Amino acid sequence: MTGKTHPKREPHNALRRGVVVRGVVQGVGFRPFVYRLALEEGLTGFVGNDTDGLTIEIEGPEKRVEAFLDRLQCEAPPLSRIDSVAVREMALVADSGFRIVASEVLGRVSTGIPADAATCPDCLRELLDPEDRRYRYPFLNCTNCGPRFTITRRIPYDRPQTSMAKFTMCPACQREYDDPLNRRFHAQPNACWECGPRVWLVQTADSESSSGDEAVEQALQLLMDGKIVAIKGIGGFHLSVDATNQAAVMRLRERKRRYGKPLAVMVRDLEAARQVCVLTTEEEALLMTPARPIVLARRRDGCGIADAVAPGMPWLGVYLPYAPLQHLLFADARVRALVMTSANLSEEPITIDNDEARARLGGIADAFLMHDREILQRCDDSVAAVVDGAPQLVRRARGFVPMGVALPFDAPPLLAVGGHLKNVFALARGRFAYQSQHLGDLENLIGLEFFRESLDHLMRTFEIEPQTVVHDLHPGYLSTQWAKKWARERGLSLIAVQHHHAHVAGCMAEHELTGKVIGMALDGTGYGSDGKIWGGEVLIARLDGFERFAHLEYVPMPGGEAAIKEPWRMALGHLHASGFDAGLNETRSLVGTTENEARVLTRMIERGVNVPLTSSLGRLFDAVAAVVLGRRVVDYEAQAAIELEGIAVDELDDVPGYEMEFAGGDWDAREPVRMSAAPLWRELLTDLRAGTSKARIAARFHVGVANGFVKVAVLARTATGLNQVALSGGCMHNRRLARLLREGLEEEGFKVYQHRNVSPGDGGLSYGQVAVAAAMLSQPQLSGDAH
Ligand SMILES: [Zn+2]
Ligand SMILES: [Zn+2]
Ligand SMILES: [Zn+2]
Repeated sequence: MTGKTHPKREPHNALRRGVVVRGVVQGVGFRPFVYRLALEEGLTGFVGNDTDGLTIEIEGPEKRVEAFLDRLQCEAPPLSRIDSVAVREMALVADSGFRIVASEVLGRVSTGIPADAATCPDCLRELLDPEDRRYRYPFLNCTNCGPRFTITRRIPYDRPQTSMAKFTMCPACQREYDDPLNRRFHAQPNACWECGPRVWLVQTADSESSSGDEAVEQALQLLMDGKIVAIKGIGGFHLSVDATNQAAVMRLRERKRRYGKPLAVMVRDLEAARQVCVLTTEEEALLMTPARPIVLARRRDGCGIADAVAPGMPWLGVYLPYAPLQHLLFADARVRALVMTSANLSEEPITIDNDEARARLGGIADAFLMHDREILQRCDDSVAAVVDGAPQLVRRARGFVPMGVALPFDAPPLLAVGGHLKNVFALARGRFAYQSQHLGDLENLIGLEFFRESLDHLMRTFEIEPQTVVHDLHPGYLSTQWAKKWARERGLSLIAVQHHHAHVAGCMAEHELTGKVIGMALDGTGYGSDGKIWGGEVLIARLDGFERFAHLEYVPMPGGEAAIKEPWRMALGHLHASGFDAGLNETRSLVGTTENEARVLTRMIERGVNVPLTSSLGRLFDAVAAVVLGRRVVDYEAQAAIELEGIAVDELDDVPGYEMEFAGGDWDAREPVRMSAAPLWRELLTDLRAGTSKARIAARFHVGVANGFVKVAVLARTATGLNQVALSGGCMHNRRLARLLREGLEEEGFKVYQHRNVSPGDGGLSYGQVAVAAAMLSQPQLSGDAH
């Protein structure tokens, strides 16, 4: 645009347009952006929020209206996401100017709450500028950044409905808030030293406290002295220690009773991240997104991060500061890297409340850096990784919630309760599924309470009253039992969805595949339609149903759940199924069991007492890891499998894969192909005896598994004519396996689909459950056989 004044308006050229913008357009500075645009183009009319987006009416010369509509899409604010723009013709009104109207004027309440966003570059500059009135103010923010979801009690997203309600803005802040041309126009958490939240520090040992900058300085000193500091953040408290201090990290592990699980590390900026990790362009981009997820990246050798942070792992979970208080800690040159791990006890939900923190974390933290801006929604940090060249969400939480994920068609109001581990539920209505934040394992009442609390909040937020409740097929899951009870109390209908069908359907829905595909669910464990424990499944899947084309051969899982925590049990189960005698000295020494353990387990297997059968690929990984790495017991699910991937990290792929064997398989009779790992075990043990390196064995194993599933896909194509493969399940977090599978399938001419916006693991399950239920409930819309 030139600054020239426009020639006098020619009335016959003037027109009026009604514009409806859908997407992430509320609470992200979209209205002031539209206002500015309209002023610059000399247009009249108004803009306001409505139920699902933004309503605009503009009037003026045709060329200016066109320019406005172009710029609307090209120059949209950084945190916004436009899904659609609908434009309609309207009669001229000749308003006197351009206005931002209140939500109520449009007769509807706006329901959008944006996700929390990292401190923007403008705010960061102010934070570190001694001349600025917000110099070193730990809670500055603007329309382009700051907390949103985590400080909101209910809709509409306006200050009185947030935990900022108790802070009255000073005149300077109020002026910014009221000025449509200011970066802080309607920035709900707007605050400054004068009027906003305060920070203070309390030490556990003495009740001494300090506040403001002094508190930040003291926290820094404690961290540099190797102390553990609980720091209140955006979605909850973190426990923090100096990540370069091995003793401090060990102390944190001991006090938190968390031994094996890797801890996330926060570093100052991208440059600092490059010093601790070898980053690809995609990983750097992921680190810098406003959601600021923890990114799992390759750790740089000799980078100075203590070994205890991620013992035995080639990767490091690294992320950048996203709150001003965190930036202040890193403003001190002494601070290189801080462990920032969710403040909780083992698998309990993250702590958010000041009193709760002192009560629950008193035995862990040496000091508490707290503030008086209440966190209303618990929300862990999100975790992401670049898998096979594209970002993949491992844990979808802060920065992503409550953004909706699109569905391929309209869904009636639904609640899908997810699974058991890494629980996430989803609400759906229309074209979107809204997943909750990561809620952790639903194993006890504390977990269930967090589930209820989040459900209440999201139901209010989106004004969704579910008509149908969707749950996993597993009758024993706490989520299933809760769903049945909740639906019964409300007279709602129920739909049960098989675990691996939900996994595959989620991948299909993300890619709008509404026909039939070859679906691979390579997973830990899920309840099968035959009552056995599935997890290495090739399905011929539609969104509304599936048939089982192939699966890993069933093997005993001695002790059931215990076999997940103790991979040596799985190793014995697998070896037994492959014809090795567990009683033999050699087998025993491979698995590292005593004579007695071997005898007891063999007897259990032979009698079938507490020995469910499983076709899980995750458990095959565990069993191989137990034998190759001697990992008898794990601290968290899939630890052994992750270590196995880790040891192969530098090994090339051009090793001969171990063989898999196929049996059965009559598609006309719907009898599945059974893939046996027996030859794989024989070759693997031969390698072990010959002293082949663990890295090479792990690499051969990965190649063998990928080859096996590619072969099955070819069999499935021959039987059905299908050529599209959807990959899902927790094993797809394994980058080597994901890449090998995709490459192998593409070499055979398949079109391959992988998860992007939803986790392939159980964190994505509820999205798949929504897709299945919505498809079942809207049968006529789908052509069952098209693909
Ligand atoms: Zn900002
Ligand atoms: Zn103020
Ligand atoms: Zn699963």
